[in-house]
Amino acid sequence: MSEKKKNLLQTGILLALVAAICAYAGSIFLSVRRADTIIPAPGLTEVRMLSEYLPALAGTRGDTEIYVFQGEEEGGSLLVLGGTHANEPAGYMAAIVMAERADVKKGTLYVIPHANNSGFTANDAGDACPLYLHFDTASGSRAFRFGSRATNPIDQLPDQDTYVHAASGQTLSGSEQRNLNRSYPGRPDGTLTEQVAYAITELIKADRIDMTVDLHEASPEYPNNNSTVAHQRALPIASRGLMYMLMEGIDIKLEASPENYHGFTHRELGDYTDTFALLMETSGATQGRVRGATSEMQALTGLDKCYELLGTTTDLLYVPYDENGHPIEERVGRHLSGVLCYVQAMGEIYPEKEIVIENIPRYSELINSSIAEYLN
Ligand SMILES: [Zn+2]
Repeated sequence: MSEKKKNLLQTGILLALVAAICAYAGSIFLSVRRADTIIPAPGLTEVRMLSEYLPALAGTRGDTEIYVFQGEEEGGSLLVLGGTHANEPAGYMAAIVMAERADVKKGTLYVIPHANNSGFTANDAGDACPLYLHFDTASGSRAFRFGSRATNPIDQLPDQDTYVHAASGQTLSGSEQRNLNRSYPGRPDGTLTEQVAYAITELIKADRIDMTVDLHEASPEYPNNNSTVAHQRALPIASRGLMYMLMEGIDIKLEASPENYHGFTHRELGDYTDTFALLMETSGATQGRVRGATSEMQALTGLDKCYELLGTTTDLLYVPYDENGHPIEERVGRHLSGVLCYVQAMGEIYPEKEIVIENIPRYSELINSSIAEYLN
């Protein structure tokens, strides 16, 4: 074979290899755009799209499903937000368990498992995060996406150097422009993230949602760990509900939402609507800045040598940390019991807003079992 032919053959093989690698990487890239399958509980009344509250969202990756469960008896209404931050699995898995289990006897439950749906279509670059979390359920192995804290940059670029919060004029780092929980109350003609925030705010107004609970995870070194942040109007509900959580053996703190820190659910939804706005945080090792390698196991178990070392030799963390980690069952259990405790508190303080939801596993049940048992 001539030198020229040899070179051509080598180039051809190399190009074919590059094409195969691109096709494989591209297929993974596209696969995370596919929505997770949720198998709702039999009592589901309807699935709405968020774009019903802002038609401009239709056909964008900001549109997302709202699972509505209406009880036979009239009562209050509750909105549960999961996936405000798509890399905080306890938040969205708690919302998914609610959508797959809830048996609403009184009042109406709204669940949005993927509040920032665009965030689920991307990963945080450079963090080597898992793409999926897997659970062996009765219907087989199920995968749920692990996304990014922020809206996918493909859906919203470029970030300005400084993010100016539209409603207040507050300035933040430019990257916060794609953070749904800095974007409330949102704008109908704003960025995709602001439009999602606006549509959620409109849903709360239109459907007169009595209470909104936004579910998150925080770095173990972050003071908000294992806490509930409440708008000032929601403090009586939050303090009573917190007492019930403590009685369930859940160590939890209560913080009043700062009045001058804008864009958050617990601030703006309370200010711009009549809802009682609460936000809950658990402890997520995958959020932390001093964690070791990020992995699916770390996200599911909370096991991490760096946090174990810090937890057992220093007092730098805001949550106890040892060789047991913080399994997702514990973290989701905290959220689910928390929601139920706040619902109970609201019904006691405002009897006309009573909501009765059955069949949701509580903290004590989850810590002795697996989430998979509560997924369909
Ligand atoms: Zn969060």
